[in-house]
Amino acid sequence: LSPVHVIGGGLAGSEAAWQISRQGVPVVLHEMRPVRGTDAHSTDGLAELVCSNSFRSDDAVSNAVGLLHEEMRRAGSLIMRAADAHKVPAGGALAVDRDGFSQAVEAALKAQPLVEIRREEVAGLPPADWANVVVATGPLTSPALAEAIRAFTGEDSLSFFDAIAPIVHRDSIDMARAWYQSRYDKGDGADYINCAMDRDQYYAFIDALLTGEKTDFKQWEKDTPYFEGCLPIEVMAERGPDTLSFGPMKPVGLTDPHTGRRPFAVVQLRQDNALGTLYNLVGFQTKLKHAEQTRVFRTIPGLENAVFARLGGLHRNTFINSPRLLDGTLRLKARPALRFAGQVTGVEGYVESSAMGLIAGRFAAADALGLPLSPPPATTALGALLNHVTGGADAKTFQPMNVNFGLFPPLVGKVRKGDRKSGMSARALSDLGAWLGEPAAAAE
Ligand code: FAD
Repeated sequence: LSPVHVIGGGLAGSEAAWQISRQGVPVVLHEMRPVRGTDAHSTDGLAELVCSNSFRSDDAVSNAVGLLHEEMRRAGSLIMRAADAHKVPAGGALAVDRDGFSQAVEAALKAQPLVEIRREEVAGLPPADWANVVVATGPLTSPALAEAIRAFTGEDSLSFFDAIAPIVHRDSIDMARAWYQSRYDKGDGADYINCAMDRDQYYAFIDALLTGEKTDFKQWEKDTPYFEGCLPIEVMAERGPDTLSFGPMKPVGLTDPHTGRRPFAVVQLRQDNALGTLYNLVGFQTKLKHAEQTRVFRTIPGLENAVFARLGGLHRNTFINSPRLLDGTLRLKARPALRFAGQVTGVEGYVESSAMGLIAGRFAAADALGLPLSPPPATTALGALLNHVTGGADAKTFQPMNVNFGLFPPLVGKVRKGDRKSGMSARALSDLGAWLGEPAAAAE
């Protein structure tokens, strides 16, 4: 069997390589780091999480991303196996120790005899004799490859901005002012560290955000939109002085034990590694200049002496117009030997990107084996996401999408509003079982 070439050893590429090899098909995984870096990655590891360490809600009954977790587990996902094995406390969310997670993914792939990992950039369209390729180069696809895709498809690549939140050392947080508590005491009840602000502190903080020096934008960048689900904190603040107190700084479900009262606003920090030595500022992605971040974030009560392990930043994020360019199995219509996966297809988020790697991997393996494989049913989270990017979305207004129940076909018959999500989840898991039983999907 000729190998499938997977370009990019991030979340989608690692998952695709795993799925392909598990079906008995050889894979060459091309990852350019450390030969060539990106603006957001800071290690050489496969499947590096570039910002938050959260895979979001793990509730498979009433949350679409939780359902996607469960579907991926059932489909033998490496990303989910590594995430579950390196979980850190985060209430109802699935958050991971980023280093342990990445190392587990890399170790599992290195242990697969059918996987060859090559540390090299694919700096243009792949050679014509690569008959089965998965392009999973992510939002920070290297310029040479991005330009080759643009020239070949004749489409200007689409883009938007994604931002990163800072991380602080736990022992630099003043616990005489901060406290452990999850909103509404979910999870273990004490999974987050909270820093409270009173009214005056909050408005002074908003003022500091608004007047703080930001990273300059070039003209072309000014026309690039932000992803609404990951807005920089100062951009949210520009929308109105109270926006943050109803957003990431909302005080609901929390009581400050130092005063016995609900604070006016709160900054939450989530555990970032298994040791519990690092915490990230939830929702505090930012384009403030580094020196300004240190100055402004140290005005948060409890973070006066914070030591930052990483500061925030803003990155351009590239994706293709999938509804226009790809067929229903993620192949480039104009060159079917190339299949796309991950964030570059126009999904948003770690889990969604990995899910597109899982699907692309299964399709690529089925092609290599000459076996038929239908797409996952549209009633599943995997199928709903695939459907959206390969045709459901309007090509003219296409923008990156998180998985959500709005992408699923409605339930048949009359269902009470409160039972809809659980009904869709039950239907999804039942329909997925049938798909996993198909010949190519089951050939593990
Ligand atoms: P990646 O994980 O980026 O993997 C792509 C890989 O391809 C990289 O390892 C890269 O080095 C390699 N590569 C690129 N070009 C080439 C080439 N030519 N040859 C060989 N290798 C190449 N999602 C969240 O859920 N939460 C977040 O907090 C979050 N924050 C983000 C912050 C930023 C700055 C960005 C850019 C994105 C963020 N995302 C976040 C979105 C997204 O989920 C992640 O980017 C995710 O890692 C995408 O998975 P991927 O596999 O498609 O790409």
